[in-house]
Amino acid sequence: MDFQDSPEEAEFRAEANAFLSKHLQPKDGNSIRERGDDYLQRAKDWQKVKAEGGFAQITWPKEIGGRGGSPMQQVIWNQEESQFDAPTGPFAIGLGMCVPTVIAFGSDEHKKRFVGPALLGEEIWCQLFSEPSAGSDVAGLKTKAVKDGDDWVINGQKVWTTGAQFSDYGIVLTRTDPDVPKHKGLTMFIIDMKQEGVEVRPIHQASGGREFNEVYFTDVRIPDSDRLGDPGMGWKVALVTLMNERLAVGGSPGPDWKEIMDYARDAGSMGDAAFRQKLADWYVAAQGYKLTKFRTQTALSKGETPGPENSIGKIITANHLQDICNSAIEMQDHYGLITDKDKAPAEAIFQQSFMWAPGLRIAGGTDEILKNIIAERVLGLPQDVRVDKDKPFSAF
Ligand SMILES: Cc1cc2nc3c(=O)[nH]c(=O)nc-3n(C[C@H](O)[C@H](O)[C@H](O)COP(=O)(O)OP(=O)(O)OC[C@H]3O[C@@H](n4cnc5c(N)ncnc54)[C@H](O)[C@@H]3O)c2cc1C
Repeated sequence: MDFQDSPEEAEFRAEANAFLSKHLQPKDGNSIRERGDDYLQRAKDWQKVKAEGGFAQITWPKEIGGRGGSPMQQVIWNQEESQFDAPTGPFAIGLGMCVPTVIAFGSDEHKKRFVGPALLGEEIWCQLFSEPSAGSDVAGLKTKAVKDGDDWVINGQKVWTTGAQFSDYGIVLTRTDPDVPKHKGLTMFIIDMKQEGVEVRPIHQASGGREFNEVYFTDVRIPDSDRLGDPGMGWKVALVTLMNERLAVGGSPGPDWKEIMDYARDAGSMGDAAFRQKLADWYVAAQGYKLTKFRTQTALSKGETPGPENSIGKIITANHLQDICNSAIEMQDHYGLITDKDKAPAEAIFQQSFMWAPGLRIAGGTDEILKNIIAERVLGLPQDVRVDKDKPFSAF
């Protein structure tokens, strides 16, 4: 395991840091999940600056607007950018997952039409996979696509679609053949989110935000030319989308042991032995995770692909975040209810993150699903029971 940057990596880190320092303010600790009304516009502006500076998509080839850099450089960029108040949220799914899928499976016309505007922050994308009865088991989805001439007609419902309310395009996974096993009857399409028949209904969250949506399709027509991959190959296409999440190893999702220790010092709670014990546990877990990340980064640095052990990271950070914020809120007693950052700036970061943490334990694979992955693919334990794997979807 390498703990230090190579000379080339150190040089790239310095270049990235200089660019970020020129354009953004460093995080002040209270900016976590704080978003004003102008957030979307700020995100578009920052995306444009990043693209013009050559930092928008480090690993993409230069011919399509990327930097032609290595996955390790992307990790370094993520780490450095996360130290700054960078409004990146609206582009994370599109540029991280949807557009790479278009690049992998789309035609030359698709690449010419969609990649540039996405990189420059002019168009936003969403990922339409999950449905009310298909989340962890997304291959069990029911949204139908039926061929009609040169078009496909889509009917059904998606849910938890992050950013659908301001997205221009999406990638949508549909069922095109119910008479074969569930993984074999799926097909992926590019969908214009502004077209007739697409209805987006924002979901109001406990935090007060509206980050994700229900999306309904009523007789939505998609030309066959906007299909990604062959009919019935949608699962293979979806796996490419989901694999692209693996580079998201930089950054931190919210307050960690350091923030709660600082808070406890101010609040005079450091004398509490039970709290000190918890603090020690959080510190040990954070160090363990840091070393696991070094292992992933070492693999990337050597040009290798990180393995399924990467799933450990989200289980640790999401549970850790929930526990830390819960303890901070308990420490604040009745002030723990205040979520208005103007009235209680230090406290609000714990409340906001407390409400976000359960979502983090679900999004991109729940704790249980990630534990299954670790059990099966890292520890080699017997597979989960999958009774419907080889039976036609319509038999259930
Ligand atoms: C913040 C956030 C953003 C999201 N954004 C998007 C998005 O942009 N696009 C999109 O398509 N989806 C999105 N999702 C949806 C997300 O992918 C699903 O919520 C997730 O896959 C879980 O599916 P589910 O909610 O249907 O829960 P279920 O799959 O119904 O799970 C319910 C419970 O059963 C457990 N469980 C399920 N199967 C197993 C098993 N085999 N073994 C053990 N336990 C099991 C789960 O761990 C969980 O505790 C988002 C979710 C969140 C929270």
